[in-house]
Amino acid sequence: MPDDADDLSRVADQLLLGLIRVDRRLTVVDANHAAHLQLVRAPGRLIGHSVMEAFLDHRVEEIIAACLDGGSRQMELDAAGDRRLIIRARRAGTGGVLVVLEDVTELRRLQRIRAEFIDNLSHELRTPLTTIRLLTERVLDELGTLDVPSRLRERVATIDVETGHLVQMVNELLDLSRIEQATTQLHLDDVEIGPLVQGALARMRAFAERQGVFLVAELPPQGQAITVQGDAERLGQVLVNLLHNGLKFSPPGRRVVVRVEPVDPELIVSVIDEGPGVPKADQQRIFERFYKVDRARPRAGGGTGLGLAIARHIVDAHGGRIWVESDEGHGASFRVALPMVG
Ligand code: ADP
Repeated sequence: MPDDADDLSRVADQLLLGLIRVDRRLTVVDANHAAHLQLVRAPGRLIGHSVMEAFLDHRVEEIIAACLDGGSRQMELDAAGDRRLIIRARRAGTGGVLVVLEDVTELRRLQRIRAEFIDNLSHELRTPLTTIRLLTERVLDELGTLDVPSRLRERVATIDVETGHLVQMVNELLDLSRIEQATTQLHLDDVEIGPLVQGALARMRAFAERQGVFLVAELPPQGQAITVQGDAERLGQVLVNLLHNGLKFSPPGRRVVVRVEPVDPELIVSVIDEGPGVPKADQQRIFERFYKVDRARPRAGGGTGLGLAIARHIVDAHGGRIWVESDEGHGASFRVALPMVG
């Protein structure tokens, strides 16, 4: 009669997820069928070997060893046979570590194809669109000097505005696919937050004036330099995207505030506006690409629904978090938390 343990190991062998149990000396004591397939080993050959021999990668050994003291860790590994595996390790009740392996080779391949497709498409679209835009602007200028019905001038002006939106959308698509592909290529440096915020504010000042909205910075006292590890250009882009939204959605005469607060071990940068706010039901979804709360909002003209998706990608790549706090009708506060240096 098979006992419970036999049953369990038979179930484990049916799983597509690899399962490995490691003891305190980092020796493999149990491994299911999928784990052997994923690590390209004959059935049963993982058992009795060290973690290093099983994975042939010292980073995996490090995260598993770290889990012996508790907690859980995760990493992605280029494994034998051109496979891409996600490795999740957590301390087992018996004192060792339980490791779950997920094969994401196909998923990553499809993600790469999608990103390349978007990249190619936006490249191809950008040139003709830019030409159309330039020509429309020129026609509009020329119409200004001619005696033509105002209806005609208005129609060309509408074409000009709409092509502007298309150009912006294509540029943001290109940005997003580049950021998705290049999150590993961040130029990391110690970035001082004060100058970063000032730079972003300077870039948005003209737009703020046009919107009739006041821009306010609430920075830590002078001389208190706060530094994060990051890519200054990308982090600046996050701030610009948030400020752009804050200004875009604010009624004239209101304020948009950038607040910087160290909350050890994180730095919280908030962009706070007094606009319409974001309904609770949409607060998670607005960070998805192309998501817009309400296409008919009066001041929202011309958005593409990509700004926040780009911001989230950049913040994620920095090991940070981004979220929004808002009571609908009472403004929104977009917050970015980044790990501080030292
Ligand atoms: P968009 O180009 O449409 O602004 P985003 O990704 O930047 O794209 O924002 C997605 C949606 O989130 C917006 O269309 C809007 O509905 C909502 N949103 C973003 N920022 C704000 C804000 N400060 N106040 C109110 N709604 C906002």
